[in-house]
Amino acid sequence: ELIQILTAAVAAPASVVLAPEPSFVMYRRNAVVAHARYVGVPLAVDFGLDVDAMLAAIERERPALVWVAFPNNPTGNLFDVAGIERIIRAAPGLVAIDEAYYAFADASFLSRVLDFQNVVVVRTVSKIGMAGLRLGYVAAHPDWIAEFDKVRPPYNVNALTQAVLPGM
Ligand SMILES: *Cc1c(COP(=O)(O)O)cnc(C)c1O
Repeated sequence: ELIQILTAAVAAPASVVLAPEPSFVMYRRNAVVAHARYVGVPLAVDFGLDVDAMLAAIERERPALVWVAFPNNPTGNLFDVAGIERIIRAAPGLVAIDEAYYAFADASFLSRVLDFQNVVVVRTVSKIGMAGLRLGYVAAHPDWIAEFDKVRPPYNVNALTQAVLPGM
């Protein structure tokens, strides 16, 4: 749902949503549903980011939203941080770092969210064994949160989930 919310917040019709490929399928799905244009940039042969290809695509397409799954799904690897930083600096719009698998990695952008104007981190409790709760969260500057809130469905985190995880 956060992928849908972020996409709806920043991707106007005909704008571009960009991600390396293969990556999480819902980036494309939600871009298409939002009438945005999805651009996938193939990973390098070692499943790392092809940073030069990403930078060229960002320059060419001027994406409203770039997704970076960190670690990536389905390849399971952690992309090079320096490469991601170059993508963040080159991107004209939002860069969403998707840390669904944060529990299985020893690196994170969470503490660095406010170091960049255009970075947010999204997480979910799904991959730590609680997919049925349907709970995710986004860490971002309050200005970004205010924009996401405009397209968030009302009461989207149900009462049972809030009762089980009151700290979230
Ligand atoms: C599983 C997953 C999500 C979201 O999972 P939900 O169950 O919808 O919270 C998001 N991104 C990646 C990369 C995932 O693997």
